[in-house]
Amino acid sequence: MTSVRPQSQLPESWLKVTSRGLYCEPGDFYVDPHRPVGRAVITHGHGDHARPGNRAVLATPATLAIMRKRFGKDAGGALDEMAYCARREIGGVGVSFRPAGHVLGSAQVVLEWQGCRIVVSGDYKRRPDPTCAPFEVVPCDVFITEATFGLPVFRHPPAEEEIAKLLAARQQFPERAVLVGAYALGKAQRVIALLRQAGYDRPLWIHGALQGLCDLYRAFGVELGELRPATGAAKKELAGEIVLAPPGALTDRWSRRLPDPITAMASGWMRVRARARQRGAELPLILSDHADWDELTQTVREVGAPEIWVTHGNEEALVHYANSIGRRGRALALIGRGDEGGEDEQEATTEPAEA
Ligand SMILES: [Zn+2]
Ligand SMILES: [Zn+2]
Repeated sequence: MTSVRPQSQLPESWLKVTSRGLYCEPGDFYVDPHRPVGRAVITHGHGDHARPGNRAVLATPATLAIMRKRFGKDAGGALDEMAYCARREIGGVGVSFRPAGHVLGSAQVVLEWQGCRIVVSGDYKRRPDPTCAPFEVVPCDVFITEATFGLPVFRHPPAEEEIAKLLAARQQFPERAVLVGAYALGKAQRVIALLRQAGYDRPLWIHGALQGLCDLYRAFGVELGELRPATGAAKKELAGEIVLAPPGALTDRWSRRLPDPITAMASGWMRVRARARQRGAELPLILSDHADWDELTQTVREVGAPEIWVTHGNEEALVHYANSIGRRGRALALIGRGDEGGEDEQEATTEPAEA
């Protein structure tokens, strides 16, 4: 895009960090506000981005479906869906969504005003994920990037390697169940889809708290194969089987129904040994829906934006990197952002009442 920006229209003059979140002044809307506002544009359904109680919400169809599932009537007043590639004008600001490759429905928000284009990435990753549309590079003047794993030590291994570890554990201990802790939105479905991609076609057993979002993914066309409720199953039926549950269930009473489970946990944080121990994970699986250091720096280079605003984690190293390649890096102090899954952590891990 060719934009010549008048000095009077610096990007921070129309997209501002406020106590409620990122605020687009000419459009009078917030992106991922952490407190209820009049008009919210939501990047994706994780709890640190999508919150209930906004008067009007603009999001992708899948994100709105996720919000309805999670918040019911509190999902928001007027829910307005917009597909990837459609475009809206709000108070003279062009608003469109592009895939972020993070979870189903996740979007980068592209804002255009007076010849300046700002892209708010939300959370994103660059690796292929069978459960959502791949990240698209959008050239822009300002790129607002997350930095959950924004340190050079964070380099996620190929997902296939981690799935292979899971399958090897199952083969090694045919009398035990393999219990995989995975966040209910995104991670659980990705683990399931990756197992299917690896050729695993046995039924997968799931905790009741995962059922609703698995159903939703299927309704949006994501293939998950046969899923069975783990709760009603006899203990011996689960020997040699893979069971998925929210992370909280790894250490709670629920897991006692499984035969001598090997506990695995799927998260980018499994790179950090202390976190794996804290989770009680015998088998840490480094599987992240966030960009690692190489993906972050690749993206900063590819979008070509002269300004890089960094949020959501380890800002400093990425700001430093941006500056080192001649971009203007800036740490955005957005409050209320969680780390991977921190977003889901407050979510109940109890099962819905069984009928
Ligand atoms: Zn997220
Ligand atoms: Zn997030």
